Amino acid sequence: MTRFPGATGLVLNEPLLWEKGKQGRSGMSIPPRDVDRSPFPEELLGTPPEFPDLSEVDVVRHYTRLSQWNFGVDTGMYPLGSCTMKYNPKINEKLAGLPGFSKAHPLLPHHLCQGALALMFELERLLAEVTGMHAVSLQPAAGAQGELAGMLIIHAYHKSRNSQRSKIIVPDTAHGTNPASAAICGYRPVKVKSNEQGVLTPESIAALMDEETAGIMVTNPNTLGLFEEHISEIGRIVHEKGGLVYCDGANMNALMGIVDMGKTGVDVLHLNLHKTFSGPHGGGGPGSGPVCVRKDLERFLPVPRVVEQEGQYVLSEQFPETIGKVHAFYGSFGVLVRAYSYILSMGPELKRASQLAVLNANYIKERLRGAFHLAYDRPCMHECVFSDKLQRAHKVTTLDMVKRLMDYGFHPPTIYFPLVVEGAIMIEPTETESKENIDLFIEAMKAVAEEAVQNPELLRSAPTRCKVRRLDETSAARSPCLTG
Ligand SMILES: *Cc1c(COP(=O)(O)O)cnc(C)c1O
Repeated sequence: MTRFPGATGLVLNEPLLWEKGKQGRSGMSIPPRDVDRSPFPEELLGTPPEFPDLSEVDVVRHYTRLSQWNFGVDTGMYPLGSCTMKYNPKINEKLAGLPGFSKAHPLLPHHLCQGALALMFELERLLAEVTGMHAVSLQPAAGAQGELAGMLIIHAYHKSRNSQRSKIIVPDTAHGTNPASAAICGYRPVKVKSNEQGVLTPESIAALMDEETAGIMVTNPNTLGLFEEHISEIGRIVHEKGGLVYCDGANMNALMGIVDMGKTGVDVLHLNLHKTFSGPHGGGGPGSGPVCVRKDLERFLPVPRVVEQEGQYVLSEQFPETIGKVHAFYGSFGVLVRAYSYILSMGPELKRASQLAVLNANYIKERLRGAFHLAYDRPCMHECVFSDKLQRAHKVTTLDMVKRLMDYGFHPPTIYFPLVVEGAIMIEPTETESKENIDLFIEAMKAVAEEAVQNPELLRSAPTRCKVRRLDETSAARSPCLTG
């Protein structure tokens, strides 16, 4: 094994184009002028911009090198917990790029886009099958928007029963977007604690659930990577008081083909196609967060909906109880094509993808046991959570360790999340990494743990091999400089 086994794309150096430019150099050849110079008023020309003179190859290399500083899943393993940064097969890109899909205008009349409508109709059916829910809307553009659509559906349900409810129960292991979505919808999130095993107990829900409470938002598997094993019992308690169960299904990568969410008592659920169903994500690219519901909530789904009418697919707004539109047109169509392509190319292997995702996370958990403190020592789902508890004696923090991991060429895992674990290090390997890649990651993590004892200063000053060292992350977030 080489000393720094991961990717090396982050450590290249590259001057500014202005530093590379040489007067007279040009990126194109124009035939010599064969007519007289024509006088042109100077004042109309103004001052020419101060662009550097560069050849084509200078420019191509410059931007290609810069593009390699941007770590991506095509560059190396990306163990970012709660993000499912799996490899996105290129066949998805190819199909999404077919002109019939990529060039279709959203206002095409339905008889000219039967293929696109059929794809959406069938994808809804496939997602219903994977989740065990009855009906699906592909409109929400991201997970958090799927949550908001789900909350609006829950609100519409209570309203249809002349019931006004003001609160939603949200566990401390829910994704951070959950309380925000509930609040945007006008509900007051009521926090409930997970137990020492990291899951919810029916008793704690029974103590909070009342007829003022619209329901519960459960992330399952939760952000500790643990399956909420009492979900059915919790659902019974919530339903008994007239509430609904919302499941944040962004972590479906652990459960495809294994858990029927409908049967666990879930009423509304969202998926993240850009995670589980292999849409490229990160950097604010388009997402897709379909919202899935049980049968009697279908009437509230966003419109328009794709329906079959006399052998044709059409977009229908004829759903009087709908919550309305949540997205211009019908959602992030390109992401839908990728998800459809992924599901069809995987077929029954989707189940195996989930099994491998869970196996990989448990393998990492077992092999790093001892090197790092395990926050909850029990079998995990698709991600495992450690902390910096063992390293604190050497005054080394989670941040120091993951910065050092970058020197080894790996993208850091998710850190300081979930909030219930102090100094959390949350690792999600996904199913697409081979054992060899995962072993390299484990060796790098172990080397960092060793360095924390032998040379803590090295970690505190890491990264040492990257283009930039420790960034002021607060300033970067609060006053970003977006123009370079
Ligand atoms: C990623 C994630 C979300 C938010 O999804 P976005 O598409 O980023 O809005 C919500 N819940 C969980 C559990 C997630 O992992």
